[in-house]
Amino acid sequence: MLLNVINVIPLSNIKTFTKPLITNLTKLGIANLQALLLHLPLRYIDETHITTIRDLRLGESAQVEGEITHAEVSYKPRKALIAKLEDASGQLMLRFLHFYPSQIAVLKVGTKLRVYGEVRHGFFGYEMVHPTCKVVGEKTQVTETLTPVYPAVAGLSQPSLRKAIRIALAQGDLAETLPASVYAPLHLPSFAQSLQSLHNPPPEVNLQALEQKTTPHWRRLAFDELLAQQLSMRKHYARRRSVSAPQFAPSQHFVTALLKSLPFALTAAQQKVALEIERDLTQPHPMQRLLQGDVGSGKTIVACMAALQSIENGWQVALMAPTEILAEQHYRKMLTWLTPLNIRIAWLTGSQSKKERELALAIILDGSAQLVVGTHALFQEAVQFKNLGLAIIDEQHRFGVHQRLALRQKGQPDPHQLMMSATPIPRTLSMSYYADLDISVIDALPPGRTPIVTKLVADSRRDEILQRVREACLQGNQAYWVCPLIEESEALQLVTANDTYALLQSEFPELHIGLVHGRMKPVEKQAVMAAFSAGELQLLVATTVIEVGVDVPNASLMVIEHAERMGLSQLHQLRGRVGRGAVKSTCILLYQNKLSETARARLKVIYESNDGFAIAQADLHIRGPGELLGVRQSGVPMLKIADLSRDVDLLETAKALADDLLKQHPAEVEQHLARWMSHAEELVKV
Ligand code: ADP
Ligand code: MG
Repeated sequence: MLLNVINVIPLSNIKTFTKPLITNLTKLGIANLQALLLHLPLRYIDETHITTIRDLRLGESAQVEGEITHAEVSYKPRKALIAKLEDASGQLMLRFLHFYPSQIAVLKVGTKLRVYGEVRHGFFGYEMVHPTCKVVGEKTQVTETLTPVYPAVAGLSQPSLRKAIRIALAQGDLAETLPASVYAPLHLPSFAQSLQSLHNPPPEVNLQALEQKTTPHWRRLAFDELLAQQLSMRKHYARRRSVSAPQFAPSQHFVTALLKSLPFALTAAQQKVALEIERDLTQPHPMQRLLQGDVGSGKTIVACMAALQSIENGWQVALMAPTEILAEQHYRKMLTWLTPLNIRIAWLTGSQSKKERELALAIILDGSAQLVVGTHALFQEAVQFKNLGLAIIDEQHRFGVHQRLALRQKGQPDPHQLMMSATPIPRTLSMSYYADLDISVIDALPPGRTPIVTKLVADSRRDEILQRVREACLQGNQAYWVCPLIEESEALQLVTANDTYALLQSEFPELHIGLVHGRMKPVEKQAVMAAFSAGELQLLVATTVIEVGVDVPNASLMVIEHAERMGLSQLHQLRGRVGRGAVKSTCILLYQNKLSETARARLKVIYESNDGFAIAQADLHIRGPGELLGVRQSGVPMLKIADLSRDVDLLETAKALADDLLKQHPAEVEQHLARWMSHAEELVKV
């Protein structure tokens, strides 16, 4: 079957669309007629029938028609325009707290009026505050469909949006993009029918199902959107597999030697993912794998094994971390692990002296550096590899798509990529936004860890907490004190790290206390971290810079201030900084009294669970996918209609169908993407 190309039609092609209208639509992210068609209602109002005043019910919205029998501007208790509307069954008060002279003119005795609003209790029985009003003329009829209410911007009224969408429905391309064999077995209606019905739902439709987006029409569009996402991601995945990459035979020496030198054995979970990665690296196309594992699950050693496979095959490896502290820690660990194997490691960050940097650049270029560890400095232009075979990116969600792309371009042909993340990605999220990656999960922690005890403590009990910190430190343990922000922000009243540092110093003259925050020079940060690692500092006051990766096993107590202001996954990450050794560890979450309901519910999750996946799932539920997606979000269009918890079944179906559709129906796939991705910029994919 030959299909015409889906016509996206620029807004400026529509003669009746004025410049201001187009500007406003653009503000809503609508660039063409397809996108306008897919601008769907937030909710609906039912103006399809008239309720008699006697039948009105408190709290419900309804449409009433009657005659104005009284109208006045009253000044008690405050200025308001008040009118009495009567029909044959009773009377209803209308109240306007803000009004124009033109409204006074309309609301006069004798006017026949149709009003729509929510029924409330007033001084004189039922009333409506700020109802929408329509003067009834001879030809006024009730609307035949529910009235849609759309997301709008200031300056764009609902009536003009409705009108624009009516035009889009008449002139836009509603052609079916999917073969009926795809949507019919799912009992989903056609695209055109679904769109028509959602913009103008017939009165008999179930309003509740409509607003919860569970009607077949909503489901059809949610399915289309999820399928478009799958198709674009899988298309990209397939394209990558057609590109070539160096093939690395499994390591014969290095990996065995490394494992022999370790004081521990790999867990079964680590072995499983290590094997998945090893197999990817033997393939002739670039690996794109995301290695997930809760904090402390032992991802670094797995990454190191992959590096060794590459190095043994004669290719260079880059290991990039988002912060200097973390990169430095990796560097040290790699030195201890790999120096015995005679592997040369280069170190690259923004804070190096020119001389150190030039030396590093030289050995990276001539290939004598087999492994390069560093921060963002790694993907700068001056950095040239002899033969980059594998790029490992730790805490991948901290990097933007463009940064990863820049690193990839340092290899010729494309290097393999291993991304790591300790922010667990719930299944539905990895099935959707991460459908272009292969995913490995380390789903168990190494044995011998003592679970962290989490306590929720009101800020008013700070004195007890101070006492506890003192005792822990004097007993030879180390502690973190985490503050959310570095500078005073009076509006938020967040405790600053600087103030806390000064305060704790005067409180504990007998303790060695350090301070680390994001605004310090990297060398200073490293010095403080090194002193804490070495046990010279007993208490470390820190901002959330220590969130990723820091590993000091002797630290067994953490106090987190203003815990209620932080994301759950972030709290979990922070908490993961303790409990890394055999000592029993405690994390104390300090909160300001008077928690909101949501804040309480969120803290309860972190208090009750130590499972990063469960916590991420809850975070997804409470805050939506934005935070979990991190910087990745910037390169990927967000789902607008589908909801990952409500529409799981559709997501699963879309996922199951996508690869087949790409093979069997490439023309339809292009149609479908043209429609659904018309609002998105061309995907920048790595
Ligand atoms: P993450 O997954 O958070 O990056 P790391 O790789 O930093 O975790 O590992 C955390 C700690 O656990 C490190 O000190 C590491 O050496 C240790 N470790 C890793 N694997 C094991 C294992 N199988 N048994 C015991 N300890 C391990
Ligand atoms: Mg790590």
